[in-house]
Amino acid sequence: MERKRQRFNKVVLVPLPLQGHITPMLQLGTILHSKGFSITVIHTKFNSPDPSKYPEFSFLSIPDNLSDQVISSGNIISLIFEINMNCQAPFLECLVRMTEQQKLYDEIACIIYDELMYFSDTAVARMKLPSITFCTTSAATFNARLDLLQLKEEGYLPFQDAALQDLVPGLHPLRFKDLPLSRFGATEDLFQLMSNLKARKTSSALVINTVDILEKSLLLQVQQQVQGPVFPIGPLHLVAPDSSSSLLEEDGSCITWLDKQNRNSVIYVSLGSLVLVEENEVAEMAWGLANSKQPFLWVIRPGLVINSQRKELLPEGFQETVGENGCIVKWAPQKEVLAHDSVGGFWTHCGWNSTMESLSQGVPMICRPSSGDQRVNARHISHVWRVGLEVNDKLERVEIERAVRRLMGAKEGGEMRQRAINLKEKIELCIGEGGSSYNSSSELEKLIISFTPEC
Ligand code: UDP
Repeated sequence: MERKRQRFNKVVLVPLPLQGHITPMLQLGTILHSKGFSITVIHTKFNSPDPSKYPEFSFLSIPDNLSDQVISSGNIISLIFEINMNCQAPFLECLVRMTEQQKLYDEIACIIYDELMYFSDTAVARMKLPSITFCTTSAATFNARLDLLQLKEEGYLPFQDAALQDLVPGLHPLRFKDLPLSRFGATEDLFQLMSNLKARKTSSALVINTVDILEKSLLLQVQQQVQGPVFPIGPLHLVAPDSSSSLLEEDGSCITWLDKQNRNSVIYVSLGSLVLVEENEVAEMAWGLANSKQPFLWVIRPGLVINSQRKELLPEGFQETVGENGCIVKWAPQKEVLAHDSVGGFWTHCGWNSTMESLSQGVPMICRPSSGDQRVNARHISHVWRVGLEVNDKLERVEIERAVRRLMGAKEGGEMRQRAINLKEKIELCIGEGGSSYNSSSELEKLIISFTPEC
């Protein structure tokens, strides 16, 4: 990306140390760097990014003192609480050191922190530094999360199983089962997290990794909820395509396998970086894919299967049955995979990054959300943009086989693919010169410059 002008004011980024949050934050850094800002990333020791992949950024590590127990528990809310508790003091010390050492023209212009790294709020208030929050979810999730507290107050939450399919008042088209509630940890913890998010005071604006064309009216609602402007500047991976922030090593051999497959024939299967499944669910997925006879590329990342001590996760006879028709890797170069001509569908957990990466390539989806915002995204994929179909929570081979056939088939799948391609074209217009994301990005740049009048 071309560097437009030389201005050395520093933007400090504070990502949440999870793959789906680090990636868009570093993409945002790449964009701001191309606009002439210098970038410093303050990160935890846990899941620290690889500085060698971003030689133009500075990286400063702060101690997080995370317990092994919370790291291995898979309980993301507990992890977020612990990070926020443990990092507040080291973060403040780090900022103090930075400001003591800073030179003229290399002063901190502002702090951009992941909304879930809300400990930053106290430090920036103390240091009287401008700050901007960064939301890595959709606008729909942003709104739904804020509404959880209200729904609780009005007695709608917690809800009974009988209400699973009912529409949530004020959150059309979400049903109660689509609310961004966590599968892990107590619901009370989630409410506490939402209160903590609401308590932030300092932020001057909100940057959100979504695109106007997907969520126009929802973005207007976001604007009503926050102080200062809202900048929908996504999809960031399209604007900053050359950065690689993968925490696991990507296995590029699957691209060679994809090269040998027919156009639009492959179903790509990945449940992201956090979802956990049971051993028997792996077997159901395996036989569902095999029985569909469709070529598949499947990511089985280390740790995907809960409490599994077994070396061989796949059922007996499965590899022999599928032969060359299936390719299994531990971690794929997902953006490259989705851009590949032979990929015709994506079975996804509907993480927001995966959703946007798929939409940006015109790839229709099988949605199997597991927790949190994935449910909101799945509902929008299947019922608003109508570029995917949802499968049941309970994974069963017959249903998987049927879903793969529906998605990859000419009639229903073809219609979804066409709608996905139409959306892809519209998204491309949004990031081009004069498009909504392009304009938001320019407005963001102006705001950051306004924090540094001496420039
Ligand atoms: N990803 C990847 N290779 C894989 C699986 C996932 O590079 O084999 C990337 C994917 O491109 C996305 C991120 O990991 O950018 C996952 O983020 P998402 O928000 O979709 O889900 P999360 O992991 O946060 O649940």
